[in-house]
Amino acid sequence: MKKETKIVSVGRDKKWSKGVINPPVFRASTVVFDTIEDMRHATKNRANGAMFYGRRGTPTHFAFQAAIAELEGGVGTALYPSGSAAISGALLSFLKAGDHLLMVDTAYEPTRDLCDKLLKGFGIETTYYDPLIGDGIEALIRPNTKVLFLESPGSITLEVQDVPTLSAIAHRHNLVVMLDNTWASPINCRPFELGVDISIQAATKYIVGHSDVMLGTATANQAHWDQLRENSYLMGQCTSADDIYLASRGLRTLGVRMAQHEKNGLEVANLLATRPEVDHLRHPAFASCPGHEFFKRDFSASNGLFSFVLKRGNIKAITAFVEGMDHFKMGFSWGGYESLILGVFGIDKLRTATQWDSSKPLIRLHVGLENPEDLIKDLEAGFARYNAVLDGQSD
Ligand SMILES: *Cc1c(COP(=O)(O)O)cnc(C)c1O
Repeated sequence: MKKETKIVSVGRDKKWSKGVINPPVFRASTVVFDTIEDMRHATKNRANGAMFYGRRGTPTHFAFQAAIAELEGGVGTALYPSGSAAISGALLSFLKAGDHLLMVDTAYEPTRDLCDKLLKGFGIETTYYDPLIGDGIEALIRPNTKVLFLESPGSITLEVQDVPTLSAIAHRHNLVVMLDNTWASPINCRPFELGVDISIQAATKYIVGHSDVMLGTATANQAHWDQLRENSYLMGQCTSADDIYLASRGLRTLGVRMAQHEKNGLEVANLLATRPEVDHLRHPAFASCPGHEFFKRDFSASNGLFSFVLKRGNIKAITAFVEGMDHFKMGFSWGGYESLILGVFGIDKLRTATQWDSSKPLIRLHVGLENPEDLIKDLEAGFARYNAVLDGQSD
């Protein structure tokens, strides 16, 4: 089945939907039972689709969990109230005091903060590694290393990792391999075929797709599903049926949205590649992006999220660029239908295993579903404002 067809058909079992197209919002805390035997049956099957108690989910959740598990290619999906909660939930399900964690240097900033602040206090030590380390990862594995965490492409700077090589080495040492797979969404990469044990999505981004819900998922293979599910349950992780309903709705148009984000993103990136001000693109589909060869091998498509590095500039010039946009709005997150722009400063402070040259400013774009001609005009006007500052024509 092709991915577009799968997106339409997954998670629509009649046992959840009762035959309507979209599984309705099924809100619950208490579930009542007529007999001791009914209660016993629900308790026994609480982890596989029985109505037991709201925190274990309702048919709204079960349908969405089945859909994401199938799209990602795992056996089960745990739900969390944000992508960050999915990351902490997965890590804390597999790490304990005295353990060692290998974390990619280009991880999402709050993931780094989790390691440096919370996990450290729990007695879990983190070593950051270069996203392009390849088989050099083996030298960093210690007897107490338990988890290898990847995020590919990397946050802001978009380095693509060699996931199969890293996973194979990690498995030789019995590590659990976790991947923040948000950029690919559940359709543009096959994490479990690349050797990943747990694939995490900030569903807040492309799955929800409309910038109006916070949500996270972690999908596990057979060997890790029971531990992920039960430990996340112990931590009280659960989500609102209303949020899941919106995410399920968003999911059904993921195929067409992603295809359009990719097309628009490439048109905008092609324009940027011709601009004399641009040093290089950090777009996985372009050869200038570190790890581009792994993108070509492991991903079926790109999307609207990428960055570009300028040859020169300062805060004043970047401010002039990003503040006057008509269509690219300034704000965190991405993955909705709208375009976003971010002048990113201080990247060097978010890297410890690698070095980033902050003398060349970086701008990150999320290219939305607007007509790319309007977006290109917007960026060209931004370059004019930026150049005016650098040429000393402004103020
Ligand atoms: C946004 C994001 C997260 C966190 O998701 P939230 O839902 O905002 O908590 C994690 N990883 C990546 C790659 C993200 O882009």
